[in-house]
Amino acid sequence: MKALEKSKPEEGLWMVQAPVPEIGPDEVLIRINATGICGTDIHIWNWDEWAEATVPVPMITGHEFAGEIVELGRNVTGLEIGQRCSGEGHVVGTESRQSRSGKFHLDPGTRGIGVNVQGAFAEYLRLPAFNVVPLPDDIPDEIGAILDPLGNAVHTALSFDLLGEDVLITGAGPIGIMAAAVARHAGARHVVITDINPDRLTLAQHVCPNIRTVDVTKEDLRDVIHELGMKQGFDVGLEMSGNQQALDQMVESLIMGGKIALLGIPPGKSPVDWSRIVFKAITIKGVYGREMFETWYKMIAMLQNGLDVSRVITHRMHVDDFKEGFAAMKSGQSGKVVLNWR
Ligand code: NAD
Ligand code: ZN
Repeated sequence: MKALEKSKPEEGLWMVQAPVPEIGPDEVLIRINATGICGTDIHIWNWDEWAEATVPVPMITGHEFAGEIVELGRNVTGLEIGQRCSGEGHVVGTESRQSRSGKFHLDPGTRGIGVNVQGAFAEYLRLPAFNVVPLPDDIPDEIGAILDPLGNAVHTALSFDLLGEDVLITGAGPIGIMAAAVARHAGARHVVITDINPDRLTLAQHVCPNIRTVDVTKEDLRDVIHELGMKQGFDVGLEMSGNQQALDQMVESLIMGGKIALLGIPPGKSPVDWSRIVFKAITIKGVYGREMFETWYKMIAMLQNGLDVSRVITHRMHVDDFKEGFAAMKSGQSGKVVLNWR
């Protein structure tokens, strides 16, 4: 089969011929229809410090996918050949305390497809049946291919009650933009999203016309708080940039007793003004991945009831043109890039 692989410990990815994976009794084989390129895949392409320390070579990359089940392991029940699906790319165990209490997303033994185990940028993917999420007919493959990052957005956005709340999102990357759409769908009052890249803010406004975008190089968030008629500031912050200044601005712009969900990954250790957080009595929650499978359930329900994130996909191309897709991602001018495998 065709597969996009990290074949050598250096910059780049290579299209190779790889054997179709053999599945175990509790696994399924999925024929891939579409995949999304993630920031993680860019780290792996660039072969930065994180990738070098984390990813064994050779490794078929990719973890955002939609496809169709073509083979079932002998123990698998409840799934069918021909079933369209996406799936959770975090492969978890069942032994840890967290898993045994149903919090699979907190399993300390989590391994990621396309990072620690062979991934989805291939004609066929082997996946535990447990991880499969069937796709309803009204969710197309290209949306199925971005459910992983949409799930990050949903998991983060639904960390705190948003109904009637004023929400600040820092970072208008694809995940921040989708989080803005989710916050709107969940009934937030004001939704404000910041970035330093005007292209990203234009895209955010295109995907969610009814939010306020703020270029923090040009505008002061305090003026925006005033303009929108908030008495003190935002109730909830969703940090989606991994940027230190963005986090500082968020802490400054929250009300006393405000809440922050942190998804963005800072590049290294970053200084935090803890006394400011203590005296503002701010609650902080770190968010990793998606809840298995509550996030998937809620995300699909919202998509079937008016949540529309389709415009966050700015590039669609055949996988043979993957170099163009990665270049678009690296340009900082794209939203999601979807590669078609069929
Ligand atoms: P992205 O890099 O495409 O978007 C980040 C955005 O933040 C960019 O548009 C950038 O211009 C913007 N930004 C930079 N400095 C800023 C500032 N001072 N103020 C406001 N915005 C600023 O990333 P993405 O794919 O949308 O992912 C969002 C974040 O979530 C990333 O940090 C990513 O590593 C992280 N992530 C975490 C998880 C998890 O499980 N915790 C999963 C996926 C992604
Ligand atoms: Zn991803």
